[in-house]
Amino acid sequence: MVFLWSAVKAVRFYGAGKPLKLEDTETPKISDTEVLVKVKAAGICHTDLHFLDGTLAPWKGSLPLTLGHEIAGEIDSVGSKVRRFRKGERVVVNNGVSCGKCKYCKMGRENICVDLDQLGFTLNGGYAEYVKVPERTLLRLPKEVTYEDGALLPCGVASSYHALMDIARLRKGETLLINGTGGLGTGAIQIAKIAGAKVIAVDVIDEKLGMAKRLGADEVVNSKSEDLGGAVKRITGGQGVDVALELVGTSAAMRNALGALGKTGRYVIVGYTKELLEASPLNLVILEAEIRGVVAYTMKDLQAVVRLVQRGKLKPVVARKFSLGEVSSALELLRQGSIAGRSIAVP
Ligand SMILES: [Zn+2]
Ligand SMILES: [Zn+2]
Repeated sequence: MVFLWSAVKAVRFYGAGKPLKLEDTETPKISDTEVLVKVKAAGICHTDLHFLDGTLAPWKGSLPLTLGHEIAGEIDSVGSKVRRFRKGERVVVNNGVSCGKCKYCKMGRENICVDLDQLGFTLNGGYAEYVKVPERTLLRLPKEVTYEDGALLPCGVASSYHALMDIARLRKGETLLINGTGGLGTGAIQIAKIAGAKVIAVDVIDEKLGMAKRLGADEVVNSKSEDLGGAVKRITGGQGVDVALELVGTSAAMRNALGALGKTGRYVIVGYTKELLEASPLNLVILEAEIRGVVAYTMKDLQAVVRLVQRGKLKPVVARKFSLGEVSSALELLRQGSIAGRSIAVP
């Protein structure tokens, strides 16, 4: 029997409102500077729901597209000009493929590159047995870090690190409110505690708040059963919080976060919906408060969180494991809010 091409299973996105399909696809062919990675684990992220719902659309490239942008795996083969990596090495992938030349790349802010491609957004991603990636997106995964933990580090943990450390400039002794204790929230709590901040974790599901407490949150508030404004007042002695991290993005959640800000408060928005943010300019003026959007992470952030896990300071929360064929149902569970921590797909 002659095989004309070897098949690679991949979860394909055909456009908003259409179901994901698990299909046989052609094995990716690598160029001189690319690396073929055998996917060992891929984080299942809420962003994929934004694609399915049409909140976010691939801004270039063509459909169908293999989703999955949180990837750890083993190198299967390397292009002829790849120098830093070789077959068999364990790696984690930075899913941002930046140009390396624009003013933002030169500032070390390659996550907002003007010509950005992203694996799992505009290029085929990691819900697949194999994925091809440019060499410079790779970071070696130390032996102390499992593939499963590794897969959660890029988007799930490095994004929180970027938001809290780079953008919000969270400092020791400050108080942080975290809206939403899902995949990003569990990492954010641990990063904030490492930074020496006091953490108030907010959610509407008690099970998630229990986990937040175990991960080190100083205070947990169920905003469904308790008035958040009153709770923040009590916890901060009426001062308000220094930083609020938005991981939910509904109007109600955003109103709560803005209301919790104290003087010089920084409100950093990572999670979003289609709902609008309504802010009183007067309140912002009086507090000298800031509102900042935050997207993804830089290679430096990814390096930092890999080191934290290697040194045993941070432990990503792997909620559940799914096969590639189960990614759709895993995303539905995520939509219902019934997953504590981050799930992964294991090809
Ligand atoms: Zn993600
Ligand atoms: Zn660039």
